[in-house]
Amino acid sequence: MSSKKYPFQKTDEEWKKILNSEEYYILREKGTEKPFSGKFNNHFESGIYVCKGCKQELYDSKSKFESNCGWPSYDGSKSGAIEFKKDISYGMIRTEILCSKCGSHQGHIFDDGPSLTGKRYCVNSLSVEFKPNKKSK
Ligand SMILES: [Zn+2]
Repeated sequence: MSSKKYPFQKTDEEWKKILNSEEYYILREKGTEKPFSGKFNNHFESGIYVCKGCKQELYDSKSKFESNCGWPSYDGSKSGAIEFKKDISYGMIRTEILCSKCGSHQGHIFDDGPSLTGKRYCVNSLSVEFKPNKKSK
């Protein structure tokens, strides 16, 4: 376990109270949900995706694109909202993405994005919550 201190800090016991077992597995134990299983995989409403753990705003729906990889994908994040960490697990060299406020696992970032940023933030649906934009009248 990392001993890094985050602004939003909880003990494992406290995390287990606010997350169900599947969410805990992904956010706190760096798990991955099954591809094409997540509720935000094909979700393209206008709004903001916030961290499931601490509610920090992470991605704008404008950054979301259809990647066909089975997980919600974004080509960018809110400034400063994501922490990047080298991940050498499973014999691969990848870059893990975490919420910068609470350290909860989001997924991984890849350099094969189709847009100008060239980035693909590959995120678990269970790592985020969606806040729709207020409809303008
Ligand atoms: Zn968070």
